[in-house]
Amino acid sequence: MMSWEEEFEAFKARTKGSAKAWASAKKVMPFGVNSNYRLTDPYPLYMGRGKGSRLWDVDGNEYVDFNMAFGALVAGHSHPVLVKALKDRVANGTIYGYEGDEAAPLAEHMCKRFHVDRVKFSMTGLDSTLFSVRLARAVTGRRKVLKFEGCYHGSHDTLMVSIKPAKERSGDAKRPNPVPSSKGLVPELVASAVIAPFNDLDATRAIAEDAADDLAAIILEPVPMNMGLVLPRPGFLEGLRRIADDTGAVLIFDEVKTGGKWYGGAEEAFGVRPDLKVFGKAIGGGIPLGVVGGTAGIMDQTVPGQVAHAGTFNANPLSITAGLVTLTEILTPKGMRHAQRIGDALGKGYVRTIKEHGLFMTVQYKGISGTVHFSYHPVVDWRSFQDVDVGKWWAYDTAMKNRGIIPMATGPDEQWTTSVAHTMEDVEDHLAALDEVAELIKRFQEAIPLVEAV
Ligand code: PLP
Repeated sequence: MMSWEEEFEAFKARTKGSAKAWASAKKVMPFGVNSNYRLTDPYPLYMGRGKGSRLWDVDGNEYVDFNMAFGALVAGHSHPVLVKALKDRVANGTIYGYEGDEAAPLAEHMCKRFHVDRVKFSMTGLDSTLFSVRLARAVTGRRKVLKFEGCYHGSHDTLMVSIKPAKERSGDAKRPNPVPSSKGLVPELVASAVIAPFNDLDATRAIAEDAADDLAAIILEPVPMNMGLVLPRPGFLEGLRRIADDTGAVLIFDEVKTGGKWYGGAEEAFGVRPDLKVFGKAIGGGIPLGVVGGTAGIMDQTVPGQVAHAGTFNANPLSITAGLVTLTEILTPKGMRHAQRIGDALGKGYVRTIKEHGLFMTVQYKGISGTVHFSYHPVVDWRSFQDVDVGKWWAYDTAMKNRGIIPMATGPDEQWTTSVAHTMEDVEDHLAALDEVAELIKRFQEAIPLVEAV
């Protein structure tokens, strides 16, 4: 059994190619990454290839991948059915600058599958949540948007507020301050965010009612997946539905992650229907595709000349083909059941291992995703996430990678995703590595630097 320091050195010894790639990359791209969430210590991993449930880094190390591009690859890496369809597509035009006839069949499928009347296509989660908020403001004629502390909805200004606020700045837990999550935001826009604590219905109602006159939207991930995986308490989503109805705000479910976790998205799991749903990530099978869907009453107000919705790449045939093939041929009810069986086995394996080793770790999982938190307490909101010992999470992540397993998406605030490509053997390999790593962390936990979650 290696010490923690030896584990860290072993990681560096086997990832020299990544160190080299980073040295070149950061000369021409600040910090060497193109999404800040990919910057890790001692340097980011640079990948060379992906197939099925596997990734290979530039040094040729093979990993069983449970990151799956932050949940975007429920179809697995380069699914053969998708590869074939995309080859045909690439040979016949990837973008026309006109509408094609492929978008309507995908729209029909999505309307039926996700119980919405209409959809509008875009490219990313970011531009889709942005449009959903604009539409909500347009139809209500109001300005404010209620979001939950710790939730992330993409890197755009209106919602870049209180994503990971530091304790000293976030104020009363029952009435959190809006804290800008980036420099460069306009204070008026930050002030238009109304922040509430997830899973606290009474506090949320009080906050929403105070802002009701100017409250355009309530936006949330129905299962927050950016402070680890946090389950909504029974009745919480139903309560938000009532608060939105009582205040006249548009209820928006950001399903950029959850939309790929169940065949019918969060509504299938929780039975609550919002006014708008936003999709991204998994629905494109690894090709960029974003979608806003919702009631006809709201969606039909995207009147040209009145409510802006535009994008050169919106509904480009490459993305649309990817979406159609992914949703109708890969993420079928059978495909989703498979991924869920795998996810369930992994979650149960974590519970068993944690118990056996007596580790101060909790696991929170549902369906194809789960998070391990180094904490004695369940995480129910951002404030409880802040009690997690983040340093041990990074130790666990490094040690798992040394054993050929990418255990979750990068960061203690993320989760694993199982896909149609994962097998029970992949789960066994994951749990065998976890068994060793759990023992390592237990024996050397004093030596692992304590890092607080912001
Ligand atoms: N919404 C949620 C819940 C997300 O997790 C993300 C990305 O992680 C986004 C929106 C933004 O999506 P994208 O990264 O495609 O812009």
